[in-house]
Amino acid sequence: MAKYNDAKCRLCRREGTKLFLKGDRCFTDKCAQERRPYAPGQHGRARKKLSEYALQLREKMKVRRIYGVLEKQFHGYFEDAEMAKGVTGANLLAILERRLDNVVYRMGFANSRSQARQLVRHGIFTLNGRKVTIPSLQVRVGDEIAVPEKNRNIPVIAAAQDVIARRGCPAWVEVDGASFKGVIKALPQRDDIQTPIEESLIVELYSK
Ligand code: SF4
Repeated sequence: MAKYNDAKCRLCRREGTKLFLKGDRCFTDKCAQERRPYAPGQHGRARKKLSEYALQLREKMKVRRIYGVLEKQFHGYFEDAEMAKGVTGANLLAILERRLDNVVYRMGFANSRSQARQLVRHGIFTLNGRKVTIPSLQVRVGDEIAVPEKNRNIPVIAAAQDVIARRGCPAWVEVDGASFKGVIKALPQRDDIQTPIEESLIVELYSK
């Protein structure tokens, strides 16, 4: 993801929903979207009726921002989703969920996807026993993600068990916090993804 240097909370306020970009802070009453639930900027409080196109565009931006994916890569994911069997929108979300950085976040080894991406890039994890540094890597059923012993004292990794207990894990992954390991039990299904996303709007946008 290209470097975004402005306040992350502005992105949530722009999209009008919590995107959970700042880890634990998102679950506290310091969340900017809860304190100021209107768009940032001078005219943020003005009521605007969005066109159909604007709604579709905003939904795409929302999903891109949640997963931290640039346009070119996101469009590539959409093309893969279209070619795969099944419903394109659900396929797209499944592809995004299967990114290694997302899986690390889902397993509780990071507080946010951007932190997970940074940890993966630094080679903190192994995939099936081999060091990995590619956040966009697609995981498969049976893959094992682990933290080697020398990396287990990194504060966020050491706290993983607490995070898992607090946040829980989706049904398609299984995590053993005590041994710092997680396994992909199944491919993510649409029902496993609780984030409020209207993926059909994105499909409509790209189908124009
Ligand atoms: Fe978004 Fe709230 Fe988290 Fe900021 S604290 S990133 S506004 S969910």
